[in-house]
Amino acid sequence: MAAVSDHTARSAALFDQATAVTPGGVNSPVRAFRAVGGVPRFMTSGDGCHITDVDGNTYLDLVCSWGPMLLGHAHPEVIAAVQAAVSRGTSFGTPTETEVLLAQEIVGRTPVDKVRLVSSGTEATMSALRLARGFTGRDKIVKFAGCYHGHVDALLAQAGSGVITLGIPGTPGVTEATTADTIVLPYNDQDAVSAAFSQYGDQIAAVITEASPGNMGVVPPQDNFNAFLAAICKANGALFISDEVMTGFRITRSGWYGVDGVQPDLMTFGKVMGGGFPAAAFGGRADVMSHLAPEGSVYQAGTLSGNPVATAAGLATLQLATDEVYAKLDETSATIQRLVGTALDKEGVPYVIQSAGNLFSVFFVESEEASGPIRDFAGAGAQVLPRFAAFFHAMLDAGVYLPPSAFEAWFVSAAIDDDALSRLETALAPAARAAA
Ligand code: PLP
Repeated sequence: MAAVSDHTARSAALFDQATAVTPGGVNSPVRAFRAVGGVPRFMTSGDGCHITDVDGNTYLDLVCSWGPMLLGHAHPEVIAAVQAAVSRGTSFGTPTETEVLLAQEIVGRTPVDKVRLVSSGTEATMSALRLARGFTGRDKIVKFAGCYHGHVDALLAQAGSGVITLGIPGTPGVTEATTADTIVLPYNDQDAVSAAFSQYGDQIAAVITEASPGNMGVVPPQDNFNAFLAAICKANGALFISDEVMTGFRITRSGWYGVDGVQPDLMTFGKVMGGGFPAAAFGGRADVMSHLAPEGSVYQAGTLSGNPVATAAGLATLQLATDEVYAKLDETSATIQRLVGTALDKEGVPYVIQSAGNLFSVFFVESEEASGPIRDFAGAGAQVLPRFAAFFHAMLDAGVYLPPSAFEAWFVSAAIDDDALSRLETALAPAARAAA
């Protein structure tokens, strides 16, 4: 494969055009490379574990569209399912068979009794919160600093992902009143949760958490944190909402639930379940879900919810995501972590690698002794960001596309093969030197 060099003229020209008509030139902030500098690459195609930009550069893709492309790009069976669905029409605004099949697949893989399909993870978490408030008749919600649940107003308080990448503490446009009922606590801190319940126990509708956070980098739950949250919610009549938009159907066939087995009252899903199309879902206990319209009175709706093309892509993806696929993803992820660690060790670059199943992050730190393990937002914030930027660009130049932010997980696909891994190994030597 040809080495990727500095051919970015077409991406640069497109970025100029984009900036004239779209804020920051992008339709989702982290894509803009603000944290790492340089020209964001405009992609034209993907094939397996590779993506190709408008200048003809091909990259090993370790972003996978921020998670969805579990099987790699343009998987022939997913494409065939999509083409078949498109040829029958793109949207009817009526129930269709594929959405039933996708809902059955989700219910079969996870502990939810019932599921409602929506079009984005943001909608899923927003709707789950509304349902929790409607069900409990309470107003307050607890979230954790560094967890990102989409751009839901009430949850844009000390959020991870693009919010932290851009250094935005909250965001203008979200009123104080909107977040007045949002209690933000440090992640992995059981004492802080106990104190919040002591003070507000009978007012808390729900605790929402990423099942295993990936939006401040990968910071897994420690000391049975999820089991603790489920128990304290139950004891106080609040609902435990596990956000599996990133981890669902990625870490195991049933997501992080397949790792810790903690039963939530409500769950949210997205990314992988849409197979690269806008599809997401929230689901949970039948008695809670029955409060949703039209069965109950908590309103929630969507013109394109359960879209036939999106559900066909999601269903094909999940049907292909077998236990063997998850075993391969684990193996590939472990190999990449080992290769990164070896390259950084060789250059004496201090780092902490943290993983949750096949999701992982590389934190560039001042000193390993002082920094690891990283257990919360404050720990993640102590990274040496210029080292990450130098590493990112050296990898990009060598044809490896990493998340353009130090606060994100790296995503592997089942399409990564030995050739791709040796390309990665070759790229890592100069990148480690750049980070030194
Ligand atoms: N929840 C989690 C854990 C996420 O990682 C994300 C997106 O990255 C969301 C919710 C929001 O999903 P979407 O971007 O589809 O709105």
